[in-house]
Amino acid sequence: MTEKIIDITGSYFVDNDILVMFWEREAGWQVVNSGCSLIDEKYYINDGLAGLKSIVSEKDRIGYERLINNLRECVNGRSEGILQNKRNLSFSFSMMTVKGYYSDFKITLYLKFHKNEYLSAALCRVEELDPEESYRYQLAKVITNDKNPESFNREVKKLFEQNPDKDYALIQFDIAGFKLINQQYGESVGDEILEYIINTLKYVCNDQQLYVRLTADVFMVVTPYSEKNELLDFIENIRDLLQGYKDIEYRLVFGINFVKDKTKNLRKFGDGAAFARQSIKNNALKYVAFFEDNMEKTANNKKWIEDQMEKALNKHEFEMFLQPKFSISSEEVVGAEALVRWMHPEKGMIPPMDFIPLFEKNGFVVKLDRYMWEEACKCLANWKKEGKKMVPISVNVSRKHMQNDTYLEYLEELLKKYDLEKKYLEIEITETLDDIAVSRGIEELKQRGFTLLMDDFGTGYSSLNMLKDTQFDVIKIDRGFLNNFIESDRGKSIVRHTITMTHDIGLDIIAEGVETIEQARFLNECGCEIAQGYYYAKPMPLSAFNEKYASCI
Ligand code: C2E
Ligand code: CA
Ligand code: CA
Repeated sequence: MTEKIIDITGSYFVDNDILVMFWEREAGWQVVNSGCSLIDEKYYINDGLAGLKSIVSEKDRIGYERLINNLRECVNGRSEGILQNKRNLSFSFSMMTVKGYYSDFKITLYLKFHKNEYLSAALCRVEELDPEESYRYQLAKVITNDKNPESFNREVKKLFEQNPDKDYALIQFDIAGFKLINQQYGESVGDEILEYIINTLKYVCNDQQLYVRLTADVFMVVTPYSEKNELLDFIENIRDLLQGYKDIEYRLVFGINFVKDKTKNLRKFGDGAAFARQSIKNNALKYVAFFEDNMEKTANNKKWIEDQMEKALNKHEFEMFLQPKFSISSEEVVGAEALVRWMHPEKGMIPPMDFIPLFEKNGFVVKLDRYMWEEACKCLANWKKEGKKMVPISVNVSRKHMQNDTYLEYLEELLKKYDLEKKYLEIEITETLDDIAVSRGIEELKQRGFTLLMDDFGTGYSSLNMLKDTQFDVIKIDRGFLNNFIESDRGKSIVRHTITMTHDIGLDIIAEGVETIEQARFLNECGCEIAQGYYYAKPMPLSAFNEKYASCI
């Protein structure tokens, strides 16, 4: 059926659209105005797609192909359905942009029918989703594959229908820290890894198992199972084959959800697998989790926090608590740490561990920290004005600040504004060995004369290695380190030697999380002079701190 090409360009063009493409039914589907050909199995990009080219990284070959496949499916494969419904089609899609990160786009197909009989032209419009839409899309992500969302769902449905007696599970997995791989090795290597994963899945999955790439680095397998262990074995197999590519090491994180009701929308169960996967993303010790109901709550909670955070900061719902630091021998207060609390009008006090990790991820910690630094300065200025004995307050400085230099000026400005000496505002940072930006930031702070406290010494990242050329003035021994070691003689010996060695290289020590008199005594014997912990005092509102300690200083 050969039709004359009708130019529909004018009637559909909308300003501000990132991209429009036109196809017409002429010897198969072909783009008018040049652009992209869908005639044969390959697609070709030329000037007509300059708009798309300028936003989508050419390196995201998989994404590109998937998009073109999706469109081909919609226009070609599904023209029957389209004809029945006569509706425009729209779906969302993640692609790597030229900026090097993945963005979500909304793709709309405007369709034109010839005499109401067959589809005669199609126009595609691609718009980047705004952050809110993007969030919604991520949350309610439809199960898609190399084809289009519906077609994958159809395949799954077919599989379910053919095997009514079997139970099915969804296994979702992704690469932890995939963005870092892109940054470190380049996007083309990132893409190579993704292609490698897809190709391997092709080989691992039998014809009863359907696999799909959802977005970016998220993959999913729909598989029958008769017992949990079968799924875990299958995952072990995938891990063996897929964890690591050439000499690049990375971690795969798996989430599993059972399809409890095969008549229900698969998306619901897919979301569950995603919640399970996300629940262990930051836990280096776990690589697989089964979906549990509370995971959904956690995800909703996260959304709630992100919706509220800006408002809460403006409404001064974040409050500075102070936890005093004591001289073990004299039991006098020698300083304090500023710790944030979220005082929510309805929910009450929300502890920092419920929101700081999230703020670290979404960047809001930068704003919150600055607010806290100013609160600390205000407090110091008040003590000064009221003639109280001054003790330094240490503030937490998230590593997020180190991504640019503005925090340095900000700190300097605060001290000027409140007319404070530098020694009163101490800086707590958790250092890691591998982050050059943080090391540089620490050096800069040191050069400017700030007192630097190495937070959480003895946990995760920080280690003796770091003490070698450190810029820090004080080491804060973490509560976990203390608790782990203080129980046994051998452990005690490690704590003792750590303290001695730290002193030898000229650093001071504060012990954090001291909960008993025995711990305090032991630390003091080892030469640690300052302690902070529940044995002495919990973090408290400024008013309580002033009442208890500031007056008697
Ligand atoms: P951190 O900087 O290591 O702070 C010490 C944490 O240990 C505080 O928890 C404190 O309340 C708790 N702690 C002190 N003594 C004891 C003890 O004897 N026993 C026990 N079990 N815990 C003790 P908090 O206030 O819940 O803060 C948790 C973490 O949240 C902080 O760990 C810090 O990493 C982060 N954080 C808190 N406020 C801020 C802030 O304003 N900015 C940033 N970036 N992070 C903050
Ligand atoms: Ca701290
Ligand atoms: Ca700490």
